[in-house]
Amino acid sequence: MNPARLSVADVLAGLRAHPWRCKFCRTPLDLGPGVCRPCGTSEDLKTRREALHGAANSIPERFRWATPDSPELPRRVRFKFGSPDAVRVLAAASTPAVVFQGVGRSGKTSFVCAMAAAVLQAGESDTSNGAAFYRAKGLRFVSALDLDEPASVAQAIAATVLVLDDLGQDLGGANAGSGVLSQRVTGATSVIMKRHNTNRPTWVTTPYDAKRIESLYGDGVSGRLLEEPNRWFAFGA
Ligand SMILES: [Zn+2]
Repeated sequence: MNPARLSVADVLAGLRAHPWRCKFCRTPLDLGPGVCRPCGTSEDLKTRREALHGAANSIPERFRWATPDSPELPRRVRFKFGSPDAVRVLAAASTPAVVFQGVGRSGKTSFVCAMAAAVLQAGESDTSNGAAFYRAKGLRFVSALDLDEPASVAQAIAATVLVLDDLGQDLGGANAGSGVLSQRVTGATSVIMKRHNTNRPTWVTTPYDAKRIESLYGDGVSGRLLEEPNRWFAFGA
């Protein structure tokens, strides 16, 4: 057939006979080969989720249930600001350091993991792959116990948002005598100082108050954590 002689009706008939189809769900497409809009949106979401794996997987499995809207959260968290809104507001704030101090089982790590989940959710729904996506992608959960390893220290320093779990817990009541302990002190000090200098959000959980943190890490660390506009919250009170 001579293409010049094609009528509109011929073209439509041809499209009906051999339409372009979405390569995922086979829905007929009008504009050419590719994917339909719903599949395109879910592919984008899949790609973003994959890019966030490193951040999401740094959160220990036992805390992955914790999200701002998890019904478990208010039950497990002994903290007067423990509402979904408070989780989201604190998570979105650019406050350089937020400290959550509380005894074991007061829910401080659950709370801070719900904040991390809020960052991940915001990153996942950032369809322009902008600031929220970048922030989520670089988020890391690091246990203070691992700060005797240079790789963990480097990862903690580089994180866009750092959850630094159990600061001081790793040192227990012991005096910083052994090599591992002093390495952990050096690692944590370097992480907190460098993040302070670059204004990167650091969310710390610790069983200890500021005085005890000062006696373990020195007044440089406790001073940086207490500095305005940082926040220091008590759990289980
Ligand atoms: Zn489709």
